Amino acid sequence: MKLKLHWQILIGLIFGLFVGLISRPLHFQNFVTEYIAVLGTIFLRALRMIIVPLIFSSIISGVTSIGSAESFGRLSFKTLSYYITTSLFAILTGLIMVNIIQPGVKPGLKDLLGFEKMPGDLLANVGKLGDTLLGIIPVNPIDSMAKGDILPLIFFALLFGFFITRTPDPYRKHLTDLFQGIFEVMMRLTQFIIRFTPIGVFALMAKIVSQTGSEIFGPLGTYMLVVFGGLLFHAVITLPLLLSLIGRINPLAQFRAMSSALMTAFSTASSSATLPLTMDAMENNAGVSNKITSFVLPLGATINMDGTALYECVAAMFIAQVYGIELTMMQQFIVVLTALLASIGAAGIPMAGLVMITIILRAVGLPLEGVGLILAVDRILDMLRTSVNVWSDSCGTALIAKTEGEKLHALGMMSE
Ligand code: ASP
Repeated sequence: MKLKLHWQILIGLIFGLFVGLISRPLHFQNFVTEYIAVLGTIFLRALRMIIVPLIFSSIISGVTSIGSAESFGRLSFKTLSYYITTSLFAILTGLIMVNIIQPGVKPGLKDLLGFEKMPGDLLANVGKLGDTLLGIIPVNPIDSMAKGDILPLIFFALLFGFFITRTPDPYRKHLTDLFQGIFEVMMRLTQFIIRFTPIGVFALMAKIVSQTGSEIFGPLGTYMLVVFGGLLFHAVITLPLLLSLIGRINPLAQFRAMSSALMTAFSTASSSATLPLTMDAMENNAGVSNKITSFVLPLGATINMDGTALYECVAAMFIAQVYGIELTMMQQFIVVLTALLASIGAAGIPMAGLVMITIILRAVGLPLEGVGLILAVDRILDMLRTSVNVWSDSCGTALIAKTEGEKLHALGMMSE
């Protein structure tokens, strides 16, 4: 019998961890970072290769199959409501935990941490939030596609798909069939690439562990635990409660359906790169219709980031605590709001969230170099928050499908 894909990926992940760990004492780090890492790079490039055509064709085929403007409006409303509500839940979870545990309030912590310099190119990417929001409207859609700017691409695809449905036949039918056809091809190509996930995950893990080792857990331990605890609470309590109470969906079945995608999210630290696997899992394992997955998931991968939202809030509060700056209720409210916006604006790529923290720091007047404090442990937190981001996207998809009357037998409650 052939081993199921998610087991293969888990083996890849653990094996990668193991190889990364022993590469340090046994001195073959160079071999890992120069040769094994290439396998990871190939895998990531292959995923990135399919993202733009996959998103473009999936959104258009999704929107054209939604049909009426009324259902389009209803679906958009549900999707955005879910995204904003769950992100706010996540932020509040983080806010409460960081206020109770206060990981940054330790005498001498500031000196102990010292500063890591922010890499120049990271800071160069920090735009203003207003620019990010305006940037949703592409000046030139082809340019956005070429650069892989996902939000403007989604914006254009939504409009394009919508106006296909407003166009008379035979054009409407031709275009609908054309994009449906491209989407079918892209899904098959996706499945082909997904087969190589175990190797990709192995290589990515080996590289990361070999580079960072375990010395990162120092004075930042409590801060990491707060982020981790918050993420865990959101992933295993808040979201499963929503799934079972509102959708009568079995969270364990949902988790099983999503396991390959979640492990990929963990090892790539990129929601966008994971998107092809998320779509595949929700359609083929969970049984959600293509109409819904192709609308909800590409949007979710870029704007719904519960994990990132929580992390933004905790990190900003932690920085304030380390500097000994008390934030008023009003300032904390601004932190919540900007954390939400920052998570929406963050791209689904590694470290996007780290850069976005500067927006919050600016909004409440905290020193921007504060980001340097948490840089060292960002990678592992990035992997965790990305998994939560993808998990929340998938929960939203299942919930919305359920409220749209889809049966989802694969995710049924025990009693049903
Ligand atoms: N890496 C995250 C993601 O792709 C974004 C972040 O850095 O928070 O979902």
